[in-house]
Amino acid sequence: MSLSETLARLDVRLPAFDPGHVWLAGAGPGHLAGLTLEVVAALGLADAIVYDALVDAAALQAAPQAETHFVGKRAGQPSATQTFINELIVRLARENKRVLRLKGGDPNVFGRGGEEAASLTAAGIPFRFLPGVTSAFGALAAAGMPATLRGVNKAIILATGHGIDDTDHLDWAALARTGQPIVVYMGMSNLPVIVAALRDGGLADTLPVAVIQGATTTKERLLVSDLARVEAEVRAAGITPPALIVVGEIVAHRFALGSLMREVILP
Ligand code: SAH
Repeated sequence: MSLSETLARLDVRLPAFDPGHVWLAGAGPGHLAGLTLEVVAALGLADAIVYDALVDAAALQAAPQAETHFVGKRAGQPSATQTFINELIVRLARENKRVLRLKGGDPNVFGRGGEEAASLTAAGIPFRFLPGVTSAFGALAAAGMPATLRGVNKAIILATGHGIDDTDHLDWAALARTGQPIVVYMGMSNLPVIVAALRDGGLADTLPVAVIQGATTTKERLLVSDLARVEAEVRAAGITPPALIVVGEIVAHRFALGSLMREVILP
């Protein structure tokens, strides 16, 4: 059965997408197959779509009726400021459009969904969140690594490698002491600092570390390393953002046969 035939058999009931409302949605880790059904439906209903660089622009093919606004980083140019984005969304909603705000992964995992929601609340504009598969879980699945495994870990930490400013650093030593795996978003530019802080915090040099670039996209690459070597190996392999750093024993439990991901093998 084709995808459209399968969809036709599903009686998916969605809340009404009313004019003047905003849906703050996650597009999943990258591949179009990671869109949820409600995001697919919203693409077909939206009058205006505001989207980021981590969203595959091919998704917009499902929304020929909508005006589109790109607010991510373009080569050489910085992304739009959060204030600009907040104001754009409010303006579009006040024009009585159905506004779909589409972000990579999940809108509320390091996605600033809360800030946009606060701005909409202040403006008295109705909105709802549409969750998406956050890139950590997309990347772990692509790499064949369990997020939790009985007997190995009892928690998983999602952390950002970027503070609000240079003085706003996470207590990496405290995270290290939990003994639980850590998935670091936006950590590539601070990799040396993060690795040093985790080693100072007591994590072993031999602890497995994976770096997963462009998970579920055509740029997908996986580097499996350890805490002592990862920094040099990331440089040698030329791994670039967007990428996630996974620190912990779960990396060693990679189900090699279950993963079709391209692993970077260094000489
Ligand atoms: N809201 C998003 C995260 C936005 S922060 C989510 O839920 O996934 C941006 C960071 O997400 C990037 O710096 C990178 O660390 C991570 N990221 C997003 N998509 C990714 C992908 N396909 N592969 C690897 N990392 C990704």
